[in-house]
Amino acid sequence: MFYILTALFCASLISPLAAGENLKKLMDGNARYVQDKLEHPNRTSERRDAVISKQEPFAVIVGCADSRVAPEILFDQGVGDLFVVRVAGNVIGPLELESVEYAAVYLHSSIILVMGHENCGAVGAVVQGTTKDIEAVAKLIQPSVDEAKKENSKDILSASIKKNAIHMKEELVKNPVLQKLMKEGKIEIQAAYYNLQTGAVEIL
Ligand SMILES: [Zn+2]
Repeated sequence: MFYILTALFCASLISPLAAGENLKKLMDGNARYVQDKLEHPNRTSERRDAVISKQEPFAVIVGCADSRVAPEILFDQGVGDLFVVRVAGNVIGPLELESVEYAAVYLHSSIILVMGHENCGAVGAVVQGTTKDIEAVAKLIQPSVDEAKKENSKDILSASIKKNAIHMKEELVKNPVLQKLMKEGKIEIQAAYYNLQTGAVEIL
């Protein structure tokens, strides 16, 4: 009985800490980026060698394809640290979902962050209704824009971007495979917003 309790206690205690610690690791890296104090960790040939046969990225980032929001740079991380899924508007369709699932199940990444960013062109196109070139992406973003418009948000674009990141996070939370890992305390899923001007990432 004691062992069972100890095991249960440890399972509930240790795993969430791992996700929390890994989120802190991301945010600490972002703070270094904001303050121009980059450490450029894990970018040497030694690190390349260490991850040839196996990768254990501590975080999954679902981000926009935008050239200004490269996760390894703005979180000050290196080779093998982040499993990154990037697509215009940081949307999550079936293809993106499979990549996230893969990292969570097989690579044991414990923190999953869906990150929207200031002045996102894909979300902006949906706000403007100029979506003929990005139909598949726009379809996934549209509900967030509709909601922001319905609520008469002061800044429709940034409200839509934040809602979109939150909605995509909710898509992940609904997924049975990820939901099971969440219940087991193995992963944590968060939405975030990146500020182009300050370089800061805000958890939503
Ligand atoms: Zn974007």
